[in-house]
Amino acid sequence: MTNLVKLNIFEALDLLKKSEITATELVSAHIKQMAACSNLNAYITETTDLALENAKISDQKYLSGKQRKLEGIPIGMKDLFCTNNIKTTAGSKMLENFIPTYESTVSQNLADNGSITLGKTNMDEFAMGSANITSHFGDCLNPWKDESGNHTVPGGSSGGSSAAVASFMAMGATGSDTGGSVRQPAAFTGTVGIKPTYGRCSRYGMVAFASSLDQAGIFARSVEDAALMLECAMGFDPKDSTSIKAEVPNLKGVSNQSVSNMKIGIPRDMMQMEGISAEILNMWEESIDKLRSEGAEIVDIRLPMAKYALPTYYVIAPAEASSNLARYDGVRYGHRAAGNFTSLDEMYEATRSEGFGEEVKRRIMIGTYVLSSGFKDAYYRKAQKIRRLMLNNFNEAFKEVDSIMLPSAPSAAFGFDQKDVDPVQMYLNDIFTIPASLAGLPAMSVPASMHKGLPLGMQIVGRALDEYNVLKVAASIERCTNIDFTPKGY
Ligand code: GLN
Repeated sequence: MTNLVKLNIFEALDLLKKSEITATELVSAHIKQMAACSNLNAYITETTDLALENAKISDQKYLSGKQRKLEGIPIGMKDLFCTNNIKTTAGSKMLENFIPTYESTVSQNLADNGSITLGKTNMDEFAMGSANITSHFGDCLNPWKDESGNHTVPGGSSGGSSAAVASFMAMGATGSDTGGSVRQPAAFTGTVGIKPTYGRCSRYGMVAFASSLDQAGIFARSVEDAALMLECAMGFDPKDSTSIKAEVPNLKGVSNQSVSNMKIGIPRDMMQMEGISAEILNMWEESIDKLRSEGAEIVDIRLPMAKYALPTYYVIAPAEASSNLARYDGVRYGHRAAGNFTSLDEMYEATRSEGFGEEVKRRIMIGTYVLSSGFKDAYYRKAQKIRRLMLNNFNEAFKEVDSIMLPSAPSAAFGFDQKDVDPVQMYLNDIFTIPASLAGLPAMSVPASMHKGLPLGMQIVGRALDEYNVLKVAASIERCTNIDFTPKGY
């Protein structure tokens, strides 16, 4: 019998429809895999009993011919999406015992389409990080090992989701991307990761980090699978004031479309950026050749503001985070320090010192500083202006091209020995992903190459609301890349 966990979503749906397998078998196989790979620490909370109950419902749906788009497909849910009656921690001690009484729109949309959640996946605390090493629940390991046989980091902040999909503990998973947290972990684990246009997926019920940047995204093992999951997750939601009132595109068959009529922009000026490894530049050139061979026209473009994207993001994101995280005060919900306090301030201080980890505290400090009177104009307002100029750069480029291609990350996955590097070094991981985040554009990572046994990912950025072409270009790279992105031993 085929190893059920190795199937892609489309293959599984086909077998389910033909009654060759049942949802219960598919879910059970994944639960076994979760036990076998528990050393990766990809799940914070497992909801396997509930998953088996839901699998029975899916089996009934197939029997009655009433199956939905993702009927019976087992997935992982980043522990940042509130799930009714199921613990939602955002990777923080602050929310260690938080059990929401409502469901996020994205997790609801996926469930309404018949997918089955296996558990809540590990993540950097409050989605701040690039290596999944800031989680209160411990590091998450990448199934991909380096040359010395040590596990690398799975990327961050959605490291649990990327590791779960790469190690066959889920057929797909949700993530959130504020500055790259879907695309970078996808690149580090040899999976596909897409974040749609800002506003496409509702932020209702997502634990907030930086509200003007936060966007839900999807991990899968093929472009086709990612397109299907994304289609199910997106949609206008009156419960989110920044949700876009636009029709959800029909993404069916997008991975078979030709790119021969397309113009792809290459921001050559970014090739000179600091810290890009030779293998990343090679992958970039190879990918250009692949798209050419598929008939696309390659056009050199410039994104001159991209070099300011990183510092701009690290002003805006902490500013918004400091405001969003002010709600964790020990009064409303979440952790509260024990003790006999003589003042409210004392209780706040103890609660927040205990509840937040180092990186989160650093961001709150930076954010509070850049928003303080006297500095707001110098930092925050200036950053907002640069953000606008970044968008202008993209708008200029999109007058000439249909999509833009650049790497997802400046290197392959690194080891845990980098854990104590200076935080600014860690921030450099986002150098290629942040420009699209600041501009709110759809972007995705697709595995495109391999270096020293580790996968590398290419990034495609599209016009606002043009997820279709982004997926189309990624599928074209996928077609031209003859590499098996299965980590050794899995
Ligand atoms: N690595 C970036 C950060 O730490 C991005 C995180 C994200 O997209 N959630 O802020």
